[in-house]
Amino acid sequence: MLDQEQTVEVSTAEENAPIIRLERLKKSYKMGRTEVQALRGVDLSIKKGEMVAIMGPSGSGKSTLMNILGCLDRPSGGKYYLDGISVSQMNKGELADVRNQKIGFVFQSFNLLSWMSAFSNVELPLVYAGVSTERRKKRALWALKLVGLGSRANHRPMELSGGQQQRVAIARALATSPAMILADEPTGNLDTKTSTQIMMVLQKLNARGMTIILVTHEPDIANYCHRKVVLRDGKIREDSVNAFPLSAQEQLASWSAPDETEE
Ligand code: ADP
Ligand code: MG
Repeated sequence: MLDQEQTVEVSTAEENAPIIRLERLKKSYKMGRTEVQALRGVDLSIKKGEMVAIMGPSGSGKSTLMNILGCLDRPSGGKYYLDGISVSQMNKGELADVRNQKIGFVFQSFNLLSWMSAFSNVELPLVYAGVSTERRKKRALWALKLVGLGSRANHRPMELSGGQQQRVAIARALATSPAMILADEPTGNLDTKTSTQIMMVLQKLNARGMTIILVTHEPDIANYCHRKVVLRDGKIREDSVNAFPLSAQEQLASWSAPDETEE
């Protein structure tokens, strides 16, 4: 997978294959004697190349769902197929391998290492993956350029704005050529304009074939996605197609002249 330099991912022949298929997915947490049922039978299919917003009130199971989709946690019942592989029965080691190969994570709080440059942050997952120095350099710079930060490679997080830090985090998620990006409230700490810039970057990746699933509280952010899935009490209450998603690029252009998001 790491051999692809120019495209984000996805072979066209498989474009319509579901990357995610959930069947009656359940997750409960044991709290002493009581049991919290966070997911109560979720059926969901997401195709390669989709850009999906997961919404729902606090406590509805969004993060639980993302943790399972991201192979950070296992369901208590039901089935999860990721890219055709059944992952619901895997042990922790197998799950970690799938996670490292297939998933890129973006978090609300960026989670960058403060003492490292943008470049080193993006390169880090490739160090863990055992990629050669030369390939790491190429790949990390490619990812930073893709998010519009090629000229900020040597900056440390503190020298970057919040939006730029989140773009570094997106580049880091991209570095290993994941099959999909999972983002839990990626714009939760950002102002409206900066959030729109982040959505522009995500739309750009999606236009190149990347599957993106993001959790958001904000209807405006969900409007940039092609599909909206609403959870309530651990079940899907709404699953709707957004035939005309907002264009973040147009939105930004209407506010001001394009800035450094494109280099
Ligand atoms: P959301 O992200 O939509 O706010 P969560 O998935 O975090 O919802 O939580 C769903 C339910 O599961 C809530 O009732 C929450 O309290 C419970 N829950 C989540 N994580 C845990 C955990 N690690 N241990 C116990 N209960 C949990
Ligand atoms: Mg949550």
